[in-house]
Amino acid sequence: MSAAENGGWVAVVGLGPGSEAQVTPEVTALLAEATDVVGYAPYVARVAPREGLVHHASDNRVELERAAHALSLAAEGRRAVVVSSGDPGVFAMASALFEAWEQGPPAWRDLDIRILPGITAMLAASARAGAPLGHDFCAINLSDNLKPWALIERRLRLAAEADFAMAFYNPRSKARPDSFARVLDILRETCGPERLILFARAVCTAEERLEIVPLAEARPEMADMRTMVIVGSSTTRLVERGPGSARPPVLYTPRWAGSWAE
Ligand code: SAH
Repeated sequence: MSAAENGGWVAVVGLGPGSEAQVTPEVTALLAEATDVVGYAPYVARVAPREGLVHHASDNRVELERAAHALSLAAEGRRAVVVSSGDPGVFAMASALFEAWEQGPPAWRDLDIRILPGITAMLAASARAGAPLGHDFCAINLSDNLKPWALIERRLRLAAEADFAMAFYNPRSKARPDSFARVLDILRETCGPERLILFARAVCTAEERLEIVPLAEARPEMADMRTMVIVGSSTTRLVERGPGSARPPVLYTPRWAGSWAE
């Protein structure tokens, strides 16, 4: 029987930034049909155990093996869901699955592969602070695991020069404790000390913490691997509430951009 006929499929789904209310109904419905859930242990743990569902938890660094495993389950006729946090297409398992699929056996080509989107950390963080990504922006992964550091620096400088707001994933890890200090130096050089920067840690979880400061006051320790960093464009504003208000100020980027001098 061919892979297409045995009823097997593999789906890569996003579980959102952390709150169960932000898992889409589409993802919940698909998980209810699954026979196997595959992924990094903390994400697999977010899927409630039930009879007929096998949990396959793995380490963070084995993306291609994990993807190949899910594909082989689908080829055997099982219904495998690979779980990512946020959105599966943003620095996550959807691309890893397609890499393993493209390199894999010809029998995998016709597999039923589904990608179900989720709320990515950058959008959740932006919404908690206001609307800092309300105009043109770009997203950069600051991890140099899969790309050279020189490329990260180049993209950073060009994005800053083009006056994009910027969202940084994986800003700082134990493996590279110093590189984020370098990022802040480059930003101060290119954007100036007044530019606003948001550190949004563990958004949509019980440990959520938001800090908004000008670049002059940004310190590397404000970020870790659970932090989303958003740098405003030149038009991004921080608007305080009236006197006596307990509500936090609003960080937003207007929908317009100023005139651009070459
Ligand atoms: N696929 C995920 C991103 C994976 S990369 C997504 O779409 O959100 C992992 C990085 O995402 C972390 O280092 C952090 O920068 C960010 N991140 C994920 N969840 C987060 C959360 N709840 N709060 C803040 N940042 C988060």
